[in-house]
Amino acid sequence: MILLFGMRTSVAVRATVWFVCHFCGFDAAQRVVERRRRLTLFWIPLFTVSRSYANVCTNCGREVDLTREQVDNAERWAASQSTR
Ligand SMILES: [Zn+2]
Repeated sequence: MILLFGMRTSVAVRATVWFVCHFCGFDAAQRVVERRRRLTLFWIPLFTVSRSYANVCTNCGREVDLTREQVDNAERWAASQSTR
């Protein structure tokens, strides 16, 4: 019997915030993304092996790594902006 294990990375946008990117200098939308790397068995995801967060500029595409706390703060900020 052959078992096919693999890894799959999925990307989810957790929030979108606006500020001046320090790489390109434009006031552009910044996507706060979560990347989850999961172990798969026959291409079916089983469980998350690692998780990372980053801020991606929509203008230049450069990334800055974020902590979980920074992502939570960005989500709270984005939620407060959408209710106004
Ligand atoms: Zn940029």
